[in-house]
Amino acid sequence: MDKILVIDDSPVQSGFLCSILKNDYIVEARHTAEEGLAAVKEGGYSLILLDVVMPGMDGFQLLEELKSTKLTQHIPVILLTSLTDVQYEEKGLLLGAVDYVTKPFNPVIIRARVNTHIQLYRYQMQFMEQAMVDELSGVANRRRYEDEGAARWQEAMRFELPFSICMFDIDKFKLYNDTFGHPAGDRVIASVAQRVASFFRRSTDLFARYGGEEFVAVFMGSQAISAFEFMKSVRQAVEDLHIQHNSPVCPWVTVSVGGVTVVPKTGDKLGTCLKLADTMLYDAKRFGRNMVVWSNQNGEQWREK
Ligand code: GH3
Ligand code: MG
Ligand code: MG
Repeated sequence: MDKILVIDDSPVQSGFLCSILKNDYIVEARHTAEEGLAAVKEGGYSLILLDVVMPGMDGFQLLEELKSTKLTQHIPVILLTSLTDVQYEEKGLLLGAVDYVTKPFNPVIIRARVNTHIQLYRYQMQFMEQAMVDELSGVANRRRYEDEGAARWQEAMRFELPFSICMFDIDKFKLYNDTFGHPAGDRVIASVAQRVASFFRRSTDLFARYGGEEFVAVFMGSQAISAFEFMKSVRQAVEDLHIQHNSPVCPWVTVSVGGVTVVPKTGDKLGTCLKLADTMLYDAKRFGRNMVVWSNQNGEQWREK
């Protein structure tokens, strides 16, 4: 069930809204804009019903705050106004509210407007999800990496956590296509992606198809040596799929992996880190493929075999 947040300083008004929506939605109420903002940041709401006139921070200020923050700007906001507040409606809609309902509340109108905006929000979410998924493999695409990778990088910087990033590349894949055909190659990309994705299940993990037969993964909290060990098991899992290949590296399809673990500091760039991972990948190719090469921020390097 979708979650709706009611932000209204009047317990009577918010109680009434809860009572008319509670059969179809999970409805929660907050009685100040500040508490409302804290609740929205916790996440998970599909719609916000927001009173305009409140002591302290008012509805407009909160609306502006929500619309200026990437994390919350997509959540639809319906304003709660009095019949006499026409100029409020105008201002609110210009600030980005999707709709307004006037007090005293008419339960039928409120339910209808809420249902419409919840439905639109679901379509929007579905669309945004699809825009972030790679069609061939079903894993995240590069756009998602760009978005989420940057968020993880900022988190690691703020909490001084080790941040690991690696690039994978299927070995001798041109030869695979030449031998077994491009459609078979497509299926290999999907199988490898699905197998590897099963290793990245934590909410802070990110695994994406970067392009062609290349993938990128991001994970947090591991020291370089354990990140290296972890990626060795991922590399082994791909080999263990036993997808026949006619390559000089191995009878099976394999990947080479290059990665790095750093604790990012202010001013450090994610792009630089990715380039370093790419250099490690280049080394993995150079040293014989089907191999993980890892480094830390001091330039110490670990490699298999
Ligand atoms: P290396 O071990 O050095 O990575 O050799 P490689 O042959 O894999 O490297 P190269 O970059 O020369 O070739 C990559 C090949 O991957 C070329 C291209 O035909 C194939 N490829 C890229 N994207 C796709 C795709 O979406 N589907 C299929 N089937 N093949 C793809
Ligand atoms: Mg390549
Ligand atoms: Mg390749």
